Amino acid sequence: MALAFDEYGRPFIIIKEQEQKSRLRGLDAQKANINAGKAVARILRTSLGPKGMDKMLQSPDGDVTITNDGATILEQMDVDNQIAKLMVELSRSQDYEIGDGTTGVVVMAGALLEQAEKLLERGIHPVRVAEGYEMASRIAVEHLEHIAQKFDFNVTNIEPLVQTCMTTLSSKIVNRCKQTLAEIAVKAVLAVADLERKDVNLDLIKVEGKVGGKLEDTELVYGIIVDKDMSHPQMPKRIEDAKIAILTCPFEPPKPKTKHKVDIDTVEKFQTLRQQELKYFDDMVQKCKDVGATLVICQWGFDDEANHLLMHRNLPAVRWVGGVELELIAIATGGRIVPRFQELTPEKLGRAGLVREKSFGTTKDRMLYIEQCANSRAVTIFIRGGNKMMIEETKRSLHDALCVARNLLRNNSIVYGGGSAEISCSIAVDAAAYRYPGVEQYAIRSFAEALDSIPMALAENSGLQPIETLSAVKLQQIKDNTPFCGIDCNDVGTNNMQEQNVFETLIGKQQQILLATQVVKMILKIDDVISPSEY
Ligand code: ADP
Repeated sequence: MALAFDEYGRPFIIIKEQEQKSRLRGLDAQKANINAGKAVARILRTSLGPKGMDKMLQSPDGDVTITNDGATILEQMDVDNQIAKLMVELSRSQDYEIGDGTTGVVVMAGALLEQAEKLLERGIHPVRVAEGYEMASRIAVEHLEHIAQKFDFNVTNIEPLVQTCMTTLSSKIVNRCKQTLAEIAVKAVLAVADLERKDVNLDLIKVEGKVGGKLEDTELVYGIIVDKDMSHPQMPKRIEDAKIAILTCPFEPPKPKTKHKVDIDTVEKFQTLRQQELKYFDDMVQKCKDVGATLVICQWGFDDEANHLLMHRNLPAVRWVGGVELELIAIATGGRIVPRFQELTPEKLGRAGLVREKSFGTTKDRMLYIEQCANSRAVTIFIRGGNKMMIEETKRSLHDALCVARNLLRNNSIVYGGGSAEISCSIAVDAAAYRYPGVEQYAIRSFAEALDSIPMALAENSGLQPIETLSAVKLQQIKDNTPFCGIDCNDVGTNNMQEQNVFETLIGKQQQILLATQVVKMILKIDDVISPSEY
């Protein structure tokens, strides 16, 4: 588009090549958008719940990911359609804010779109649908507050937290070890939590993985693990009460930045130069020793000469440690990162009770454990597993569990899972629809129906008859006023989620409903799609 002026100075807009663009208007636009959104939701629907299917995604360069996590599936799908991208964003926002419930939010949005399509076909204006959805979502969110329960936990009784994390993990590939992993997640979060401010800095929890061993060998280390080893095989493998110099300067003589020329024409000159270089190394090592360092961790490398000297002078060292790790080590050990040798002072050294090198199985792989740190508020979860895919999926699942534990620490309200909260909301929203005299009433009822799609999907994925199962549970909830009855996905024998210990966080569930409604409202309000034409 361009702004032009006619001979009287009046502005007008020139729209270029309009006829070459494809354009969809009115109901056609809404239907096309709804279909795009539904298509994305359909993909995720089968992944929902403890019996949900996993997806295998191959990237253009051949990397394979197997996952059950909604956000990851959508992230890697590389969708083209703009509305489909909105759904991807939706799942991502749930991931950023809450960390769990990324599949559920998309399935919910898909169901809302499906219901909206029916309403549009019956001639209801999209804006009225959007308004009805908004009202219904408010009713649902309020109702969730009513059925939510608080639970008490403290540092000695972590069982309720573990149970909630286990619900999250039960739908993942790693559910075989959900008890171990849930306990690790809760302990990690409690270790770094600020219980007074009720906040958790998840950056202090490092998740590291190494191929090999079993998933059960996954452990929580109160300290930092670095995927590096001592720079020389003869250096000590265990240092107690370590004082650590954390350096971002290399162990090498300074190099002039501009071009330089050194003429060496005699043996003596060469000897002097060599002596000079040696002295540089020696001074550096001496400087570290003088301030009292017993271990050097360096962001850069050092050549064989320096390495040998370090070994000789009995100063263990680790080289090529990444920036992020270096920062974490500094936080954990209470040390300072030192950019120049001249700035090294005893106060800047980090302290750790034990630094040890651990080797794994028959491989040459070794890792460095820095434990009993001065500032114990940094922990590492060390994942073991048969292959890289498994480790990556465990990392993603643990991320969800960590987020759930953090959310509970911030706000200890829970609702019951297994679709029970959705069914209860659906009943409440449906009952409230009569209070609204306008056309919105239809949209509100459709919203209630859309809420049912979560328990339906859970039942479907578990091989149960969706309609029969849902209506039976719904009847039970209405008759006995039991908002904790859901879908018995694992065939335990009871659909009482309280007994099954299937919890979800209140804020997570509320966020799911709010975000899904927001996106659907946005999609419904688009009535003109102008896109560049294909040819
Ligand atoms: P999301 O990515 O949205 O968390 P999941 O695939 O993890 O999706 O599935 C979560 C859904 O599965 C929630 O509705 C939760 O209540 C339900 N769920 C988890 N464990 C169980 C269980 N043991 N029995 C019934 N439902 C469960």
